[in-house]
Amino acid sequence: MRIIELNKRQETILQIVKDNGPITGEQIAERLSLTRATLRPDLAILTMAGYLDARPRVGYFFTGKTGSQLLTERIKKLTVKAYQSIPVVVNESASVYDAICTMFLEDVGTLFVVNSESYLVGVLSRKDLLRASMGKQDTESIPVSIIMTRMPNITTCKLDDYVVDIANQLINKQIDGLPIVKEVNVGGETKYEVVGRITKTNITKAFVQIALDEFY
Ligand code: ADP
Repeated sequence: MRIIELNKRQETILQIVKDNGPITGEQIAERLSLTRATLRPDLAILTMAGYLDARPRVGYFFTGKTGSQLLTERIKKLTVKAYQSIPVVVNESASVYDAICTMFLEDVGTLFVVNSESYLVGVLSRKDLLRASMGKQDTESIPVSIIMTRMPNITTCKLDDYVVDIANQLINKQIDGLPIVKEVNVGGETKYEVVGRITKTNITKAFVQIALDEFY
């Protein structure tokens, strides 16, 4: 299986390197009766896609990796940073009614709750808000702080975490998304600033992008 469609010349180059590597760009060009400059884009594609590796003063050699190995490697390397969304937060003193309005207006399924210093204190899901509005009490008089899932029981992640690990956590914990946080030390205590959001939708987008990406 090839993860990128190689053209005829790229397939030929790959074969030359497989049979003769390490081999320099000049030598490959000679064998094909082409100039080094003509070959440069093909060599760049083959190297970037992971089929070939290049060592200075040695030349190109075949990595021996199959298309599916390269695809797996690429998926494993995806980080949260590239697929995140903007987080939507409410203050812990906001009412359940306000939170419901925010959820509709911002069109998100999860809200993050912050305190007056803007540090993460809780999470609100659609069902948390539905449950709270099923009771007899007026939703305008219930603060979100009493119905939210609170710290330290919040699963968080960082910008450089791997998307695959996050997907695993969402499955295992049966939740829809995670706040992306930055740790800050305040007087010896660790606090969390909310800097982003990663959800099942983001991960689905990553999956589609890889599938439709022509280069890989
Ligand atoms: P829903 O409740 O609408 O199905 P989720 O599956 O995301 O949405 O949430 C399930 C429960 O887990 C809710 O009570 C919610 O507060 C909590 N929750 C959601 N995200 C997190 C998280 N990142 N860490 C801890 N708890 C969470």
